[in-house]
Amino acid sequence: MDLTEKVAIVTGAASGIGAEIVRLFLESGARVVAVDIDPGLPQAGGLADRYPERLRCVVGDVGAEETSLAYARLALEAYGKIDVMINNAAVSYVKPIAEHTPEEWDRVMNVNVKSIYWSARAVVPAMKKAGGGLFLNTGSISSVVGLAGQGAYGPSKGAIVQITRQMAVEYAPDNIRVNAVCPGTVDTPLVRQAAADSGDPEAFLAGLKTAHPIGRVAQPEEIAQFYRFLASDHARFFTGAVLMIDGGFTAQ
Ligand code: NAD
Repeated sequence: MDLTEKVAIVTGAASGIGAEIVRLFLESGARVVAVDIDPGLPQAGGLADRYPERLRCVVGDVGAEETSLAYARLALEAYGKIDVMINNAAVSYVKPIAEHTPEEWDRVMNVNVKSIYWSARAVVPAMKKAGGGLFLNTGSISSVVGLAGQGAYGPSKGAIVQITRQMAVEYAPDNIRVNAVCPGTVDTPLVRQAAADSGDPEAFLAGLKTAHPIGRVAQPEEIAQFYRFLASDHARFFTGAVLMIDGGFTAQ
């Protein structure tokens, strides 16, 4: 899958699905601006040494406007355009809605939802000027079903679906496409943290496996491969799509 002509911004790039997207995009020839709040980002996966010309990093909070201004500016200065904006960073607390503190609620909404608004403000003008572009927003099975313990995370992921549809319709005349990718459970630090927070990690992880008809959870690479396809020219007819990649979870 050739991405040689593509410039992509990827948030949540230091870990899990985002780190695999960065790796696969670089392998496929793309130029990438990787974004994460984790100061270890520039060292993540040893990619900066392998691809010194095609990888730039921004360490910042995607819930803050200045981060979006920084990644958009860096992409335009370093590579002259932005083809693909991947809003993938997220946080989660495993709690029913009424047990979230106001600070936790705001944090989840800022990182998972408002970050997409900031990305739109920072990136849409450049895409319009260039004649088009693509947003890919990471949703979840929690975007479309209620799951116990996802009191703030679930609503935030639901909002991502509607932002995706809204932007897709709004910007279709500008040749800017917008899709949501909604994974089932993926074996990443986010899930391991949720398991640890649950009080019974073993039962939590076993339950996740059997909850998917396919009988297992996904590996990050399986999700990143789909992003690579969606970023390629083979996926030009997708827009406003809410794409489940969930081992059958939401087929039940
Ligand atoms: P992860 O925890 O492995 O990675 C998330 C990354 O986002 C981390 O590197 C973290 O530092 C970064 N991040 C967190 N807050 C940030 C902020 N404020 N600003 C910038 N970066 C920030 O998680 P993951 O499992 O790879 O999740 C990636 C995406 O996939 C998320 O949107 C998540 O909701 C979604 N998702 C994950 C699963 C799963 O089972 N792992 C399932 C469905 C959807």
